Amino acid sequence: MKKDIVCIVCPRGCTIQVNYDKNGIISMEGSSCKRGDEYARAEILSPTRMITSSVKIDNAKYTVCPVKTGAPVSKSKIFDVMEEIYKVRIQAPVQQGDVIIKDVCGTGADIIATQTFEAES
Ligand code: SF4
Repeated sequence: MKKDIVCIVCPRGCTIQVNYDKNGIISMEGSSCKRGDEYARAEILSPTRMITSSVKIDNAKYTVCPVKTGAPVSKSKIFDVMEEIYKVRIQAPVQQGDVIIKDVCGTGADIIATQTFEAES
């Protein structure tokens, strides 16, 4: 199988052509450095993503609080993680950096508040 991957590690945006099969990577062409090779390898073998979203919040100035994962999570877990995030409802006050969900879906990543909200009452 062949796949073109655009490296996002730096602004140069090299396109890396990866040739692979079920046993792993056979060859790669197009990267300009080792970081690109590592990125392309990870994209093929175990792609991960940071997730940003929001959770419902009560007793605050706004009705949602922005959150993100504290570490990248496997792409295959994104929908499970989003379902967990949608279920959550928190109460102000909340501080930026507070853990909202610990080890979400067993990924090892926490869901973290990215904004502070004071309690309104
Ligand atoms: S392969 Fe290297 S030079 Fe090219 S975009 Fe990735 S990090 Fe940048």
